Amino acid sequence: MADTMKGAKLRGGIRPSRKYGEGRVCAHKGCNTRLSQYNRREYCFAHAPVRFPRVRGRVVTES
Ligand SMILES: [Zn+2]
Repeated sequence: MADTMKGAKLRGGIRPSRKYGEGRVCAHKGCNTRLSQYNRREYCFAHAPVRFPRVRGRVVTES
């Protein structure tokens, strides 16, 4: 019985390769944006961990 459980792990090589290649998608949860073959990031443009230049929240509503 135990023998059937063991060894069933290495079966089925449906794992996507790790290299940057064809058909990679954004690593963001639920995002299916295709990544460029030359884009080594894990996220698409929208989810890339970039620091957005925070614009000063200066509201000019003086009157
Ligand atoms: Zn994304």
